[in-house]
Amino acid sequence: MVTGGGRGIGAATARLAAARGHRVCINYLNDSVSAQAVVDGIRAAGGTAIAVRADVSRADGARRLFETVDERLGTLTGLVNNAGTLEKQCRLDELDEDRLARIWAANITGPFLCAGEAVRRMSTRYGGRGGAIVNVSSAASRLGSPNEYVDYAASKGALDSMTRGLALEVAGEGIRVNAVRPGLIHTGIHALGGEPGRVDRVAPGLPMGRGGQPEEVAESILFLLSPASSYSTGAFVDIAGGR
Ligand code: NAP
Repeated sequence: MVTGGGRGIGAATARLAAARGHRVCINYLNDSVSAQAVVDGIRAAGGTAIAVRADVSRADGARRLFETVDERLGTLTGLVNNAGTLEKQCRLDELDEDRLARIWAANITGPFLCAGEAVRRMSTRYGGRGGAIVNVSSAASRLGSPNEYVDYAASKGALDSMTRGLALEVAGEGIRVNAVRPGLIHTGIHALGGEPGRVDRVAPGLPMGRGGQPEEVAESILFLLSPASSYSTGAFVDIAGGR
């Protein structure tokens, strides 16, 4: 299950997961055209994929999403908590209550709800066969995103805390929980902040001198989903070109 799998990092992750032999559920919120294009590409390459529209920040949306996977793809083995959002760049003293509620809902409540659905299916405590959860956090959780979106950065800080706490909660139940923290990656998310060219603006000042590609993040996510990382839990992989 890749939440927010229709575009950007989620789409690259869904494609790589399918190429590695996984049956993939691509969740999305609004952009059905992009999600269907990812599904079509996977099917054309001989893989199995479905696209499911659901707002994962709502309990009923998350529940229905996972029930669809139960019915159409079978036993859940992995969750990538990738869906996330940000809003227009501004200072903290310009943030209002409604925006904070939206950011917390999408970036914190959503991953919590989906992780809960996944644990109830994968944990040996509930008769499951184990599995892996990968949270898509951000370098913002340690940088704070001053003058851009401290709310977004703080929501990823919450996701980092959840990664540690949940990892320890279910370490003895066959589930590993890890996170990736991408830096500046070429996707459409920066347009939401009002600066579509943000990666190119900042790139020259980065240690590696360039932004990252979604596929470079997907590789680490697939590593954390796979048995190749069988002794890693509660861990973080920074994918930020040294930032
Ligand atoms: P993106 O291209 O904007 O894609 C975001 C995806 O999330 C879209 O598929 C969107 O659905 C989906 N989504 C948003 N809210 C949702 C909700 N409530 N329920 C279901 N789906 C929802 O963004 P991206 O850059 O690939 O970001 C993916 C993750 O990486 C995010 O968690 C982001 O915070 C994180 N990240 C990105 C960067 C970067 O530089 N790009 C850096 C660090 C971390 P629709 O397609 O239907 O709109």
